[in-house]
Amino acid sequence: MYSSSVIGIDLGTTYSCVGICIDGSIEIILNDQGNRITPSCVAFTDTERLIGDAAKNQAYRNPQNTVFDVKRLVGRQYSEYIVQQDIKLWPFKVEASVDDKPMIVVKYKGENKKFYPEEISSMVLTKIKKNAEAYLGRKVSRAVISVPAYFNTLQRQATRDAATIAGLQVLKIINEPNAAAIAYNQKVSEDDTNILIFDLGGGTLDVSLLEIQNGVFDVKATAGDTHLGGEDFDNKLVQYCCQEFLKKKGIDIRGNPRALRRLRTQCERAKRVLSSANQTTIEVDSLEANEDFICTISRAKFEELCLRLFEQCIHSVEKLFKDSCYQKNEIHEVVLVGGSTRIPKIQELLRKYFDGKELNQSINPDEAVAYGAAVYAATIQDNLYFNLLILDITPQNLGIQTDGGEICNVVPKYTSLPTSQSRTFLTNCKVQKHFEARIFEGGKNLLTFCVNDAYFPNYEDQQIEITFRIDEDSNMKFFFKDYYTKRLIKDYSIVFQFNLSQVEIQKLVKEAEQFNDESSP
Ligand code: AMP
Repeated sequence: MYSSSVIGIDLGTTYSCVGICIDGSIEIILNDQGNRITPSCVAFTDTERLIGDAAKNQAYRNPQNTVFDVKRLVGRQYSEYIVQQDIKLWPFKVEASVDDKPMIVVKYKGENKKFYPEEISSMVLTKIKKNAEAYLGRKVSRAVISVPAYFNTLQRQATRDAATIAGLQVLKIINEPNAAAIAYNQKVSEDDTNILIFDLGGGTLDVSLLEIQNGVFDVKATAGDTHLGGEDFDNKLVQYCCQEFLKKKGIDIRGNPRALRRLRTQCERAKRVLSSANQTTIEVDSLEANEDFICTISRAKFEELCLRLFEQCIHSVEKLFKDSCYQKNEIHEVVLVGGSTRIPKIQELLRKYFDGKELNQSINPDEAVAYGAAVYAATIQDNLYFNLLILDITPQNLGIQTDGGEICNVVPKYTSLPTSQSRTFLTNCKVQKHFEARIFEGGKNLLTFCVNDAYFPNYEDQQIEITFRIDEDSNMKFFFKDYYTKRLIKDYSIVFQFNLSQVEIQKLVKEAEQFNDESSP
């Protein structure tokens, strides 16, 4: 029996899913509870560390030490506005490290412990790896992992770091909508089509337009929001219920993590019910001070609370068409992916945007990404069953700012990968030895280079040529050259290897191994 040795992982904000190719068909790997998806959740108690279902099931008893949503933190700075907003809603504590990275603080075996988001993600990946090993009856060490197409370079690298800490070698990072497109194509075997993948999960939205022809997946445009999804709809319901409880009982539960956790669980349940029913009840016994909470909520009320967020989803679709050379009537199929696309209002708005076009719901919204990642994993390993090629693009503009000036765009968004593009800059003065270059991705500062001992031949006008080289896996290198001689000013090629330093990674791998020995299986 043939079985791929590379697994395909959908590492989601709220749930993760993993698949593998066995004898040419993809199997979704069941976890130790027999479930096809595993909550991306880690909990710490006085005696043990729990991951997945076990962590989620005890969350209401131990809210401060039950960590979820870390995908919203990976690759971000603590001081970012969006991070600050999330922290206000989470029952667990997040602090800044000395270099402004978010650190999650929990109590484990009676002691305060701090973890990088990458470490928590690595724990989820460790669990997935162990489940896969138990299911397959052999060691698993290599994976293809999916990320939102709209993830920036730091967020992608943080995902790689998490896998490294978990002892997984990442053969490829695949964009979630591309994986979903592969799953769709396997299912319908249609060729020569333009599809739009609308992928709305627990924490992120991706919209991608792909042309599929003879197994070639040519990504033409992509848009999205790395901070928009089911968790935000849950937040709206939680906020509404808090106000209701305050109004009815005069009790403000916003400072009570345990009450908030219990309420959130019921709100998420209600949200799911409202995708098929017109009305449901949110009920929590003894929410605070022995007072029960009970509230009937209609689908219309839920839609009213979330309308702005739902419209934001449609704005991403509009933006994609505005920025690309495609018209919406050129799309053959609008394919829905991600648990949140079950919400009727979102489907209604999307259908309306596409002038009444039927939406394609032929693939399993919870499993499509892991399925596609598993197909891709098998393809990389050998081409026994699948033959496909993804031609990807840069999702966001990449530019440079020298010495505090304007940001100059070097690689425009939607550029096909691999690419190499250059810009030339005049130095501020003759024989300039020092200069600072800030690289921007989608208007956000990605990293800053300081060149301190540049050497130029003494030309009248000194010019620096800066080249951005990006390979098909979105890895970047930057070269700084003297424009006239093309001589490398400094041996300045930067490869994104680790968002955390190598030393930090090694330390974390060791700590993770120690944790794995201690934890219950
Ligand atoms: P995913 O990341 O694709 O697994 O999506 C998870 C998100 O989908 C979570 O926020 C879930 O609450 C949400 N979800 C799952 N099923 C439904 C449903 N029937 N109605 C609304 N949201 C759902």
